[in-house]
Amino acid sequence: MKTVECDILIKNIGQLLTIPSKNGPVINTNRESLGIIENAYVSIEDGKIKDIGRGSKEIAAKKIIDAEDCIALPGFIDPHTHLIFSGTREKEFSMRIRGKDYLTIMQEGGGIKSTVKATRLASKEELFSVSAKRLDTALSWGTTTCEVKSGYGLSTADEIKMLEVASLLQRNHTVSIAPTFLGAHEVPEEFNGNKRGYVDLIIHEMIPEISKRKLARFCDVFCEKEVFNRKETEKILNEGLKHGFHAKIHTDEFYNIGGTELAEKVNAVSCDHLICTNDKGLSSMKKAGSIAVLLPGTNLFLMKKEIPPVDKMRELTVPIAIGSDFNPGSSPIIAMPVIMSLSCLLYGLTPEEAIVGATINAAYAIKEEGVIGSLEEGKLADIVIIDSKNYEEIPYWFAQNRIVYVIKGGRVVAGKKKFQTTED
Ligand SMILES: [Zn+2]
Repeated sequence: MKTVECDILIKNIGQLLTIPSKNGPVINTNRESLGIIENAYVSIEDGKIKDIGRGSKEIAAKKIIDAEDCIALPGFIDPHTHLIFSGTREKEFSMRIRGKDYLTIMQEGGGIKSTVKATRLASKEELFSVSAKRLDTALSWGTTTCEVKSGYGLSTADEIKMLEVASLLQRNHTVSIAPTFLGAHEVPEEFNGNKRGYVDLIIHEMIPEISKRKLARFCDVFCEKEVFNRKETEKILNEGLKHGFHAKIHTDEFYNIGGTELAEKVNAVSCDHLICTNDKGLSSMKKAGSIAVLLPGTNLFLMKKEIPPVDKMRELTVPIAIGSDFNPGSSPIIAMPVIMSLSCLLYGLTPEEAIVGATINAAYAIKEEGVIGSLEEGKLADIVIIDSKNYEEIPYWFAQNRIVYVIKGGRVVAGKKKFQTTED
């Protein structure tokens, strides 16, 4: 008879997806990759996973959560968001529906620039309050860790303000935050016709200052036609590397200007979007060990038919993660299960790839694979319990929140059955 003393026991898990990660990010994803245990339990001690196995009856615990035959899997990790911003952009939504495209709206002063205006005017307190509410929603849909970018400040003070809000969220919100400096999101109006001056500001002032204040872990650039070219991207990311940031690249979203081919040069942790990427870019990513972060919410909201070359990614075994790209312009979606559905429906990912993409591979995309993303002994007990029998139901029940419990560091923090744990 097996007796385990622990703080919390989750028992009667119909289908437990452990998603083992020992051999690096998951490639050649299939049912095996999910590490399924039927009729399983998870025991938790000090917020971490103590033990996982089949059956559960003999285990003694201070608190018991009855999963009632539901699915349990790692808490979702959203590896790409622009969570912090002020103002909304529903007017552009209407404009796009009437036929205007994103880059034209951007050149006419809409797009990122309009959010910059509103975000600069907002106080830290205001930004914290709206962002915390957004995180509450993300959490209710199972997101337990969220990457968060700056990039709507575009001045040293405003970029710092955004990253300080990220840091406040990290300290005061349940969802864990992975902060990214994205000063190179757009050229601000005061630098019109002087992009060089703005790149200099990023390199000589923003990066050193943000590094000194330890406000970000990653440095990101929007490498795109009319935004930052390949050379500027490389320059900025190299400076970031010198200051201790890991590199990420927004690349090949609208035009391929060779951004993805930088992956190897800057040792990119992830390349994100990748709609019009080519073999050269993917080979560079493969060599660098970069994760492909796919963002299908933007396809839906920009009504774009072009999709990333997923088959090529599979063939070249580039690991795939998925993210919401939550932002006020091109993807106001924050629910990871919705993004999982979209990744299947729009990009042709399999349900297994979507699940791996929102858990362990997303953890790799923010360099947190040692702590989260899979359910293994010693990892954080970030667990989502979903009212389904079979994991394929997760992307299938489109936009229906079937989450029963969200558990963060061993604590029930959200879900339909918030506090109905029973004492042993
Ligand atoms: Zn983005």
